[in-house]
Amino acid sequence: MEKTFVYIAKEDRQIADTFRQSYDPYVYQGSLEENLKEARRLKKDITHCRFCKRSRQETKFKENTHMLSKLLGNYNYYSHDECDTCNRLFGTRETDLSCFLGTARTFDHLLTERKAPGFESGSGQVGVKKIGPEAFYVFQKREGEDFKVDMESGQAKINLDSQIYRPDNVYLSLLKMALGIMPEKDISNYALAFKILQEPEKYPEVRHLFKANVTETEMVIARPFAQLFRRRSDLNSPDLPQMLFCLSVGRFMFQIIVPGSELTEANMGKSLDMRVAPYIQLNLQETHDRVVQKRYMKDLSSNEPIKKEDRMQFSFATDNLVSIKIEGLTDLF
Ligand SMILES: [Zn+2]
Repeated sequence: MEKTFVYIAKEDRQIADTFRQSYDPYVYQGSLEENLKEARRLKKDITHCRFCKRSRQETKFKENTHMLSKLLGNYNYYSHDECDTCNRLFGTRETDLSCFLGTARTFDHLLTERKAPGFESGSGQVGVKKIGPEAFYVFQKREGEDFKVDMESGQAKINLDSQIYRPDNVYLSLLKMALGIMPEKDISNYALAFKILQEPEKYPEVRHLFKANVTETEMVIARPFAQLFRRRSDLNSPDLPQMLFCLSVGRFMFQIIVPGSELTEANMGKSLDMRVAPYIQLNLQETHDRVVQKRYMKDLSSNEPIKKEDRMQFSFATDNLVSIKIEGLTDLF
Protein backbone atom coordinates (compact mmCIF):
# COMPACT_ATOMS: atom_id res chain seq x y z
CA MET A 1 0.00 0.00 0.00
CA GLU A 2 1.19 3.47 -0.87
CA LYS A 3 2.36 5.52 2.09
CA THR A 4 1.45 9.14 2.54
CA PHE A 5 3.42 11.25 4.96
CA VAL A 6 1.63 14.03 6.75
CA TYR A 7 2.48 16.66 9.31
CA ILE A 8 0.61 17.15 12.57
CA ALA A 9 1.02 20.48 14.35
CA LYS A 10 2.65 20.24 17.79
CA GLU A 11 -0.51 21.29 19.60
CA ASP A 12 -2.37 18.42 17.93
CA ARG A 13 0.07 15.58 18.71
CA GLN A 14 -1.79 14.45 21.82
CA ILE A 15 -5.03 14.23 19.88
CA ALA A 16 -3.20 12.38 17.11
CA ASP A 17 -1.81 9.81 19.57
CA THR A 18 -5.22 9.11 21.07
CA PHE A 19 -6.81 8.93 17.64
CA ARG A 20 -4.17 6.54 16.31
CA GLN A 21 -4.85 4.10 19.11
CA SER A 22 -8.31 3.53 17.64
CA TYR A 23 -8.15 4.44 13.94
CA ASP A 24 -5.98 3.81 10.90
CA PRO A 25 -5.95 5.98 7.81
CA TYR A 26 -7.75 4.08 5.08
CA VAL A 27 -8.45 5.98 1.85
CA TYR A 28 -7.38 9.40 0.64
CA GLN A 29 -8.86 11.52 -2.07
CA GLY A 30 -6.90 14.61 -2.74
CA SER A 31 -6.07 14.15 -6.36
CA LEU A 32 -5.43 17.25 -8.37
CA GLU A 33 -5.33 15.39 -11.63
CA GLU A 34 -7.90 16.08 -14.24
CA ASN A 35 -9.67 12.77 -14.97
CA LEU A 36 -12.69 13.76 -17.02
CA LYS A 37 -11.77 11.59 -20.03
CA GLU A 38 -11.12 8.55 -17.91
CA ALA A 39 -14.33 9.07 -15.89
CA ARG A 40 -16.38 9.41 -19.08
CA ARG A 41 -14.86 6.26 -20.52
CA LEU A 42 -15.60 4.26 -17.36
CA LYS A 43 -19.14 5.65 -17.25
CA LYS A 44 -19.91 3.99 -20.60
CA ASP A 45 -19.44 0.56 -19.02
CA ILE A 46 -20.99 1.15 -15.64
CA THR A 47 -23.87 -1.27 -14.98
CA HIS A 48 -25.49 0.40 -11.97
CA CYS A 49 -25.28 3.51 -9.80
CA ARG A 50 -23.09 3.27 -6.70
CA PHE A 51 -25.58 5.31 -4.70
CA CYS A 52 -29.15 4.34 -5.67
CA LYS A 53 -28.22 0.97 -7.28
CA ARG A 54 -30.46 1.71 -10.27
CA SER A 55 -29.37 -0.05 -13.44
CA ARG A 56 -28.55 1.51 -16.81
CA GLN A 57 -32.10 0.69 -17.92
CA GLU A 58 -33.60 2.54 -14.96
CA THR A 59 -31.52 5.70 -14.93
CA LYS A 60 -29.05 7.71 -17.05
CA PHE A 61 -25.31 8.24 -16.82
CA LYS A 62 -24.93 11.22 -19.13
CA GLU A 63 -23.84 14.03 -16.78
CA ASN A 64 -20.32 14.68 -15.53
CA THR A 65 -20.40 14.02 -11.81
CA HIS A 66 -17.93 15.34 -9.27
CA MET A 67 -16.32 13.11 -6.66
CA LEU A 68 -16.23 15.99 -4.16
CA SER A 69 -18.59 18.90 -4.51
CA LYS A 70 -17.51 21.41 -7.12
CA LEU A 71 -18.85 24.14 -4.83
CA LEU A 72 -15.85 23.38 -2.61
CA GLY A 73 -13.35 24.03 -5.36
CA ASN A 74 -13.08 20.55 -6.85
CA TYR A 75 -13.35 21.23 -10.55
CA ASN A 76 -11.29 18.46 -12.09
CA TYR A 77 -11.94 15.22 -10.31
CA TYR A 78 -14.91 13.24 -11.56
CA SER A 79 -16.66 10.06 -10.49
CA HIS A 80 -17.84 7.42 -12.96
CA ASP A 81 -20.50 5.56 -10.99
CA GLU A 82 -23.01 8.26 -10.00
CA CYS A 83 -26.22 8.48 -12.06
CA ASP A 84 -27.90 11.67 -13.22
CA THR A 85 -30.83 11.25 -10.81
CA CYS A 86 -28.47 11.06 -7.83
CA ASN A 87 -26.38 13.91 -9.17
CA ARG A 88 -29.44 16.17 -9.06
CA LEU A 89 -30.55 15.01 -5.62
CA PHE A 90 -27.07 15.58 -4.17
CA GLY A 91 -26.69 18.84 -6.06
CA THR A 92 -29.57 20.50 -4.23
CA ARG A 93 -28.12 19.41 -0.87
CA GLU A 94 -24.70 20.77 -1.78
CA THR A 95 -26.23 24.20 -2.16
CA ASP A 96 -27.03 23.94 1.57
CA LEU A 97 -23.41 23.02 2.24
CA SER A 98 -22.17 26.10 0.39
CA CYS A 99 -24.67 28.36 2.22
CA PHE A 100 -23.45 26.81 5.48
CA LEU A 101 -19.89 27.83 4.58
CA GLY A 102 -21.21 31.37 3.99
CA THR A 103 -18.55 34.02 3.34
CA ALA A 104 -15.72 31.52 3.86
CA ARG A 105 -15.93 30.38 0.25
CA THR A 106 -15.22 33.92 -0.94
CA PHE A 107 -12.81 35.10 1.76
CA ASP A 108 -10.70 31.92 1.83
CA HIS A 109 -10.45 31.43 -1.88
CA LEU A 110 -6.91 30.67 -3.01
CA LEU A 111 -7.21 29.19 -6.46
CA THR A 112 -5.43 31.58 -8.76
CA GLU A 113 -6.72 29.96 -11.92
CA ARG A 114 -10.33 30.36 -10.91
CA LYS A 115 -12.30 33.35 -9.79
CA ALA A 116 -13.45 33.18 -6.19
CA PRO A 117 -17.17 32.59 -5.95
CA GLY A 118 -19.06 35.73 -5.02
CA PHE A 119 -21.18 35.94 -1.88
CA GLU A 120 -24.66 37.32 -1.46
CA SER A 121 -26.09 37.61 2.03
CA GLY A 122 -29.39 35.97 2.92
CA SER A 123 -31.24 39.28 2.84
CA GLY A 124 -29.81 40.04 -0.60
CA GLN A 125 -28.57 43.41 0.72
CA VAL A 126 -24.83 42.71 0.94
CA GLY A 127 -22.43 41.25 -1.58
CA VAL A 128 -18.76 40.32 -1.35
CA LYS A 129 -16.35 39.89 -4.23
CA LYS A 130 -12.71 39.02 -4.16
CA ILE A 131 -10.68 41.45 -6.25
CA GLY A 132 -7.11 40.52 -5.34
CA PRO A 133 -5.06 38.17 -3.16
CA GLU A 134 -5.85 40.19 -0.02
CA ALA A 135 -8.55 42.54 -1.23
CA PHE A 136 -12.29 42.23 -1.10
CA TYR A 137 -15.02 44.38 -2.38
CA VAL A 138 -17.91 44.54 0.07
CA PHE A 139 -20.90 46.30 -1.35
CA GLN A 140 -24.51 47.14 -0.78
CA LYS A 141 -26.66 45.29 -3.25
CA ARG A 142 -30.00 46.57 -2.07
CA GLU A 143 -31.24 49.26 0.28
CA GLY A 144 -31.70 48.01 3.82
CA GLU A 145 -30.57 47.85 7.41
CA ASP A 146 -27.76 45.36 6.81
CA PHE A 147 -25.25 47.82 5.50
CA LYS A 148 -24.46 50.70 7.82
CA VAL A 149 -21.56 53.02 7.26
CA ASP A 150 -21.29 56.13 9.43
CA MET A 151 -19.09 58.65 7.69
CA GLU A 152 -18.93 61.02 10.70
CA SER A 153 -17.67 58.53 13.25
CA GLY A 154 -15.89 56.23 10.82
CA GLN A 155 -17.79 53.13 11.87
CA ALA A 156 -19.04 50.39 9.61
CA LYS A 157 -21.38 47.57 10.54
CA ILE A 158 -22.26 44.99 7.98
CA ASN A 159 -24.53 42.03 8.37
CA LEU A 160 -23.32 39.06 6.34
CA ASP A 161 -25.77 36.42 7.49
CA SER A 162 -25.79 33.50 5.10
CA GLN A 163 -28.66 32.37 2.94
CA ILE A 164 -30.80 29.82 4.70
CA TYR A 165 -29.73 26.18 4.70
CA ARG A 166 -30.88 22.90 6.18
CA PRO A 167 -28.37 21.46 8.66
CA ASP A 168 -29.22 17.85 7.80
CA ASN A 169 -28.35 18.52 4.16
CA VAL A 170 -24.88 19.62 5.26
CA TYR A 171 -24.36 16.24 6.94
CA LEU A 172 -25.82 14.38 3.97
CA SER A 173 -23.49 16.21 1.57
CA LEU A 174 -20.50 15.15 3.65
CA LEU A 175 -21.81 11.60 3.87
CA LYS A 176 -22.21 11.49 0.09
CA MET A 177 -18.54 12.37 -0.37
CA ALA A 178 -17.55 9.71 2.17
CA LEU A 179 -19.50 7.03 0.32
CA GLY A 180 -18.19 8.32 -3.01
CA ILE A 181 -14.55 7.63 -2.14
CA MET A 182 -15.25 4.37 -0.32
CA PRO A 183 -13.64 1.31 -1.96
CA GLU A 184 -16.10 -1.01 -3.77
CA LYS A 185 -15.49 -3.90 -1.42
CA ASP A 186 -16.75 -1.94 1.61
CA ILE A 187 -20.01 -0.80 0.06
CA SER A 188 -22.08 -3.78 1.25
CA ASN A 189 -20.98 -3.10 4.82
CA TYR A 190 -22.43 0.43 4.64
CA ALA A 191 -25.82 -0.40 3.13
CA LEU A 192 -27.50 1.63 5.88
CA ALA A 193 -25.54 4.78 5.02
CA PHE A 194 -26.50 4.45 1.36
CA LYS A 195 -30.17 4.08 2.32
CA ILE A 196 -30.00 7.14 4.59
CA LEU A 197 -28.56 9.11 1.69
CA GLN A 198 -31.51 8.21 -0.54
CA GLU A 199 -34.34 8.58 1.99
CA PRO A 200 -33.11 10.29 5.16
CA GLU A 201 -36.65 10.91 6.46
CA LYS A 202 -37.18 7.15 6.73
CA TYR A 203 -34.52 6.81 9.42
CA PRO A 204 -35.34 9.15 12.30
CA GLU A 205 -33.53 6.75 14.69
CA VAL A 206 -30.12 7.67 13.26
CA ARG A 207 -30.62 11.46 13.27
CA HIS A 208 -28.47 11.83 16.38
CA LEU A 209 -25.50 10.80 14.25
CA PHE A 210 -26.04 13.79 11.96
CA LYS A 211 -23.31 15.97 13.41
CA ALA A 212 -19.84 17.11 12.51
CA ASN A 213 -16.76 17.78 14.50
CA VAL A 214 -15.47 21.06 13.11
CA THR A 215 -11.83 22.14 13.32
CA GLU A 216 -11.15 25.76 12.39
CA THR A 217 -7.57 26.52 11.45
CA GLU A 218 -5.24 29.40 10.66
CA MET A 219 -4.29 27.59 7.49
CA VAL A 220 -6.39 27.83 4.39
CA ILE A 221 -6.11 25.05 1.87
CA ALA A 222 -6.93 25.75 -1.74
CA ARG A 223 -8.53 22.46 -2.68
CA PRO A 224 -10.69 20.05 -0.74
CA PHE A 225 -9.04 16.97 0.66
CA ALA A 226 -11.03 13.95 1.80
CA GLN A 227 -10.05 10.90 3.80
CA LEU A 228 -11.62 7.86 5.41
CA PHE A 229 -10.35 6.35 8.67
CA ARG A 230 -11.10 2.79 9.69
CA ARG A 231 -11.39 1.51 13.25
CA ARG A 232 -8.42 -0.68 14.06
CA SER A 233 -9.19 -4.35 13.47
CA ASP A 234 -7.61 -5.41 16.78
CA LEU A 235 -10.00 -3.20 18.67
CA ASN A 236 -13.22 -4.45 20.18
CA SER A 237 -15.06 -1.25 21.06
CA PRO A 238 -18.66 -1.43 19.92
CA ASP A 239 -19.19 2.24 20.84
CA LEU A 240 -16.66 3.43 18.29
CA PRO A 241 -17.93 3.71 14.70
CA GLN A 242 -16.12 1.55 12.15
CA MET A 243 -15.57 4.39 9.74
CA LEU A 244 -14.95 8.11 10.07
CA PHE A 245 -14.73 10.65 7.26
CA CYS A 246 -12.77 13.90 7.29
CA LEU A 247 -13.01 16.68 4.74
CA SER A 248 -10.62 19.60 4.75
CA VAL A 249 -11.80 22.64 2.84
CA GLY A 250 -10.64 26.25 3.15
CA ARG A 251 -9.90 26.81 6.82
CA PHE A 252 -12.20 24.04 8.06
CA MET A 253 -11.97 20.35 8.66
CA PHE A 254 -15.25 18.48 9.07
CA GLN A 255 -15.33 15.05 10.62
CA ILE A 256 -18.38 12.79 10.53
CA ILE A 257 -19.42 9.24 11.37
CA VAL A 258 -20.21 6.95 8.44
CA PRO A 259 -23.01 4.70 9.74
CA GLY A 260 -22.22 1.08 8.96
CA SER A 261 -23.07 -2.47 9.97
CA GLU A 262 -22.39 -1.67 13.66
CA LEU A 263 -25.94 -0.32 13.54
CA THR A 264 -28.60 -2.96 13.01
CA GLU A 265 -32.36 -2.63 12.62
CA ALA A 266 -32.63 -3.33 16.34
CA ASN A 267 -30.03 -0.91 17.70
CA MET A 268 -30.16 1.97 15.22
CA GLY A 269 -30.73 4.50 17.98
CA LYS A 270 -27.56 3.70 19.87
CA SER A 271 -25.03 6.44 20.31
CA LEU A 272 -21.56 6.19 18.89
CA ASP A 273 -18.53 7.92 20.23
CA MET A 274 -16.62 10.11 17.76
CA ARG A 275 -12.88 10.21 18.46
CA VAL A 276 -11.56 13.54 17.30
CA ALA A 277 -9.11 13.33 14.40
CA PRO A 278 -6.05 15.60 14.33
CA TYR A 279 -5.71 18.29 11.69
CA ILE A 280 -3.53 16.91 8.93
CA GLN A 281 -1.08 18.93 6.86
CA LEU A 282 -0.10 17.47 3.52
CA ASN A 283 2.47 19.96 2.38
CA LEU A 284 5.66 18.75 4.04
CA GLN A 285 7.66 21.56 2.46
CA GLU A 286 5.77 24.08 4.50
CA THR A 287 4.57 22.85 7.87
CA HIS A 288 3.04 24.98 10.61
CA ASP A 289 2.43 24.79 14.34
CA ARG A 290 -0.22 26.68 16.29
CA VAL A 291 -2.68 26.39 13.43
CA VAL A 292 -5.72 24.98 15.18
CA GLN A 293 -7.97 27.85 16.32
CA LYS A 294 -10.93 25.95 17.69
CA ARG A 295 -12.83 22.70 17.65
CA TYR A 296 -16.50 22.18 18.28
CA MET A 297 -19.28 19.72 17.62
CA LYS A 298 -21.92 21.00 15.22
CA ASP A 299 -25.36 19.47 15.50
CA LEU A 300 -26.70 18.86 11.99
CA SER A 301 -29.74 16.78 12.85
CA SER A 302 -32.40 19.38 12.13
CA ASN A 303 -34.25 19.68 8.84
CA GLU A 304 -35.49 23.17 9.73
CA PRO A 305 -33.89 25.84 7.51
CA ILE A 306 -31.66 28.25 9.44
CA LYS A 307 -29.03 30.84 8.60
CA LYS A 308 -25.48 31.29 9.77
CA GLU A 309 -24.88 34.58 11.52
CA ASP A 310 -21.90 36.56 10.38
CA ARG A 311 -21.14 40.19 11.21
CA MET A 312 -18.39 42.47 10.07
CA GLN A 313 -17.48 45.58 12.02
CA PHE A 314 -14.63 47.98 11.56
CA SER A 315 -13.57 51.58 11.86
CA PHE A 316 -11.91 53.71 9.24
CA ALA A 317 -10.07 57.01 9.38
CA THR A 318 -12.47 59.84 8.63
CA ASP A 319 -9.72 62.29 7.57
CA ASN A 320 -9.20 60.44 4.30
CA LEU A 321 -12.77 60.16 3.16
CA VAL A 322 -12.03 61.44 -0.27
CA SER A 323 -11.05 57.90 -1.24
CA ILE A 324 -14.41 56.50 -0.26
CA LYS A 325 -16.97 56.98 -2.93
CA ILE A 326 -20.59 56.29 -2.21
CA GLU A 327 -22.71 55.72 -5.25
CA GLY A 328 -24.89 52.76 -4.52
CA LEU A 329 -21.80 50.61 -4.29
CA THR A 330 -19.59 51.48 -1.36
CA ASP A 331 -15.93 50.78 -1.75
CA LEU A 332 -14.47 50.08 1.66
CA PHE A 333 -10.99 49.05 0.69
ZN1 LIG B 1 -28.14 6.88 -8.65
